[in-house]
Amino acid sequence: MDSSHPSQQHAETRLVTSGRDTKAQKGFVNPPVFHGSTVLYPTAEDLHAHRGEFTYGRHGSPTTKAFQETLMALEGAQCAGVGIVPSGLSAISTTLLSVLKTGDHILVCDNVYRPSRNFCNGMLTRYGVETSYFDPLIGAGIEKLFKPNTRAVLVEAPGSQSFEMPDIRAIAEVAHARGALVIDDNTWATPLYHRSLEQGVDISMQAATKYIGGHSDIMFGTVSANAKAWPQIAEGIRLLGVCAGPDDVFLALRGLRTLSVRLAQHHRSGLEMARWLATRPEVARVLHPALETDPGHAIWKRDFTGASGLFSIVLKPAPQKAVDAMLDTLKLFGMGFSWGGFESLAIPFDCDAYRTATKWAPGGPTLRLHIGLENVDDLKADLDRGFAALTAAM
Ligand SMILES: *Cc1c(COP(=O)(O)O)cnc(C)c1O
Repeated sequence: MDSSHPSQQHAETRLVTSGRDTKAQKGFVNPPVFHGSTVLYPTAEDLHAHRGEFTYGRHGSPTTKAFQETLMALEGAQCAGVGIVPSGLSAISTTLLSVLKTGDHILVCDNVYRPSRNFCNGMLTRYGVETSYFDPLIGAGIEKLFKPNTRAVLVEAPGSQSFEMPDIRAIAEVAHARGALVIDDNTWATPLYHRSLEQGVDISMQAATKYIGGHSDIMFGTVSANAKAWPQIAEGIRLLGVCAGPDDVFLALRGLRTLSVRLAQHHRSGLEMARWLATRPEVARVLHPALETDPGHAIWKRDFTGASGLFSIVLKPAPQKAVDAMLDTLKLFGMGFSWGGFESLAIPFDCDAYRTATKWAPGGPTLRLHIGLENVDDLKADLDRGFAALTAAM
């Protein structure tokens, strides 16, 4: 193996070596943050032809180029392009607006990120695109839900609250036979642990706000597409005029450089906490596809090379006030949305409030945990105190 050539390098190495142009950066390792709108053209002829490596701020800069090259190298050979958008939700809305038109139908997995549903039910409905939701465990059975006008299938593996694991390979086989695109919200695993473009996905999106940024300090999104889907995505981004601020692009690139060590630690600590929680008397079930006992484990093992630090637990039946007492007692686990940063989080959630294709009846209160980079013994001690408060408030 010739490890001097990026295509021959392991993913961790590519995260470090890709997108670097030492000469252009006058010897410095990192590119500067290009704050810019206007790009000057040297001659009138160049101006008329829009000729130049960079043409306008919205269309890219040396900072965005370095980021795109690095993410493309991580996505693998199937990736034909990486689009940059201002948030994860914008990755979803930009993608759907780019590939759908009035009269189309889209199949959406019942466990996707709730704002994805809101976008489909709100704006897509207004534009005359019909959405149907399907059971995350449907597999090849999705065939019967296809209509002549079904253009796309949106999946999230695993869903970032209930952690059911759709069989993307089986779904993609059916979708491609029907001429539909497969779109994956790959935020949970990132392309480091789930190379979705190599498994039948045409468009793989990231809320880069989460693990790619990794420090809870940016809003950012990406859309990676294969050769079949990239022209539509590139056109959609251009027509809609979406772009991201240069500081956030720079911080996202900086996040990519250390993604492999952070994610490896989230994987280790997350699994250790999940195993520990599974032994707790207060916990009825742990929803984590990397646990051998999880219903999604076989698919996770087949398609993923690691897990991140986000999973959920189902508590034994307890009144809301007792769960709130637990949450209010926790010191290391903060209460807040988003995840993927260095810090641990705990939030209650209720999928039953929005699911339509499947009934979500976990049998007790549910909490989603993000295991950050703190020491796991400290995290266990924090949850110990929380469980004591839960029991005392019953
Ligand atoms: C957070 C999140 C998003 C949205 O990302 P933002 O950057 O907050 O807009 C999309 N999908 C999933 C799975 C997420 O967790």
